[in-house]
Amino acid sequence: MEKIEISVVIPFYNEADAIDAIFKAIIPVLKRTKLSFEVLCINDGSKDDTAERLIVYKEKYPQLKIINFSRNFGKDAALSAGLDLSVGKCVIPIDCDLQDPPELILEMLKKWKNGAEVVLAKRFDRSCDTIIKRTTAKLFYKIYNYLSDIELPENVGDFRLLDRKVVDVIKTFSERNRFMKGLLAFSGFRTGTVEYQRQKRSGGKSKWSYWKLWNYAIEGITSFSIVPLKVSTYLGIIMTLFSFIRGFWILFRTVIFGIDVQGYASLITAILFLGGVQLISLGIIGEYLGRVYIESKQRPLYIIREII
Ligand code: UDP
Ligand code: MG
Repeated sequence: MEKIEISVVIPFYNEADAIDAIFKAIIPVLKRTKLSFEVLCINDGSKDDTAERLIVYKEKYPQLKIINFSRNFGKDAALSAGLDLSVGKCVIPIDCDLQDPPELILEMLKKWKNGAEVVLAKRFDRSCDTIIKRTTAKLFYKIYNYLSDIELPENVGDFRLLDRKVVDVIKTFSERNRFMKGLLAFSGFRTGTVEYQRQKRSGGKSKWSYWKLWNYAIEGITSFSIVPLKVSTYLGIIMTLFSFIRGFWILFRTVIFGIDVQGYASLITAILFLGGVQLISLGIIGEYLGRVYIESKQRPLYIIREII
């Protein structure tokens, strides 16, 4: 059997409207490389007719491999499955909505041939995203890179090229929490970059609500930084020092000027403030504890119903 050079991994979740466009765009690019390739289509528990439509394409292109999940496990799980099942000398995850242009693969391959082990695709222009999405994304990268030791390259999605070496390393990471961007940044390696303009979706709509993005951000931060856990310690120290000073002052005043029963406003403010701080601290500990709990169960990341 000939050795496969390129493995392309495409996650699909309710993407029946986008299937035609992605294959029409990506297959000619892959053929142009003159290298052997496989396309792993991860059907992440779609409820529409994504699975049936993929099978139609499989008949046309034998290089396709369809992996049907038993239910929806999320994009990061789909990517993990793609990495696990790929056999190519390099692996390229790409979204199915053509927001990442497939022609870029040619440029990535060039960098790879020149020795890069990871080739990042950087969006130099995100003007097709909404202003809220752009600002929140920027804020996230700022906070993340401030809190975490490992720099997360800004405006880089999952679209990138990974050498077999890198894929094999990532496969050894046993954690359930798959913040792929972070895992990839963590693994290091010689990195090249190509730039592109982020496109509008070819069809269908984004699966990301702001609530989902918020949770994703928390996931990312808690899995790569424990700085939030230390915040309450330092806040506690500051509070204690402050209360000592204040306490001595009140004691001193009482001794000199006698008892003074005023101060209801400051009392209630202090109680509410401290209550709030304590609850937030407990919440932060809970976030981490919950993740330890989930990790400790060691459940599978994804469940495959069938591979076609
Ligand atoms: N996706 C998936 N499982 C999910 C959500 C999304 O496999 O639970 C896939 C989706 O089909 C697409 C890719 O992940 O190929 C990116 O999704 P989307 O376009 O919604 O994200 P965005 O581009 O808005 O970040
Ligand atoms: Mg998209």
